[in-house]
Amino acid sequence: MRKNIVAGNWKMNKNVIEAQQLMLQLLNYTKENASNCEIWIAPPALYLLMAKDLFALNEVGIFSQDMSEYESGAYTGEISAEMLESIGATGSIIGHSERRQYHGETDSHCNAKIKLALEKGLTPIYCNGETLEQRKSGKHLEVVKNQTEVALFTLSAEEIKKVVIAYEPVWAIGTGETASPEQAQEIHAHIRSLIAEKYGKEVADEISILYGGSVKPDNAKEIFSKPDIDGGLIGGAALKIGDFSKIIEAFNA
Ligand code: PEP
Repeated sequence: MRKNIVAGNWKMNKNVIEAQQLMLQLLNYTKENASNCEIWIAPPALYLLMAKDLFALNEVGIFSQDMSEYESGAYTGEISAEMLESIGATGSIIGHSERRQYHGETDSHCNAKIKLALEKGLTPIYCNGETLEQRKSGKHLEVVKNQTEVALFTLSAEEIKKVVIAYEPVWAIGTGETASPEQAQEIHAHIRSLIAEKYGKEVADEISILYGGSVKPDNAKEIFSKPDIDGGLIGGAALKIGDFSKIIEAFNA
């Protein structure tokens, strides 16, 4: 079902004390404030169990930042969909541009991971988006089309409805550069129309599409006000409760 979502990707930040502190701040925030969106966090894998313990009532959805494309076995350093399921995680980010850039992940890998996640009842947050070069050469619509098709279009209609998509232009991640609300809306509408063409409008309208790329308290409201933007995947601004909570509040009337 289409929902408004604010998801924080903590990346490789915070030691265990700092992580616990931020989780406790967020827990207190959820106790004291009603919000008009789902709140999700993706802390480093080492802290997922702690997060599950602290958010025992599922006040906040708990995601890994990545998961393996394989079920189990000799894959040193990886975590599996089954492990995530077994701790009660909500899902996993899949295909973040940093995984693509530094670990050579492709949309075919993403496709395998998304299928495994869905088999285990996990919600995949599938990330895509063009590089600066691709945008400058006017290829952004084509790039995102190709990514979406390869990663998602082998899924059934019932499966794709359970996927959350995060459009994250690579040139806007951690750079302070943000796609304008209009640029983001153009791509979000494009992704939704590709899904509508393949699976029908009803399916496309059920999918939450988040924007990611330097979302901050001062630009969140305008970005989230666009019709095809259902929330954000937040990096840097998810690391401080003050900023993250203001972004959550962008959904308040
Ligand atoms: C991200 O890494 O998903 C992200 C959007 O980062 P930032 O908000 O820091 O640009």
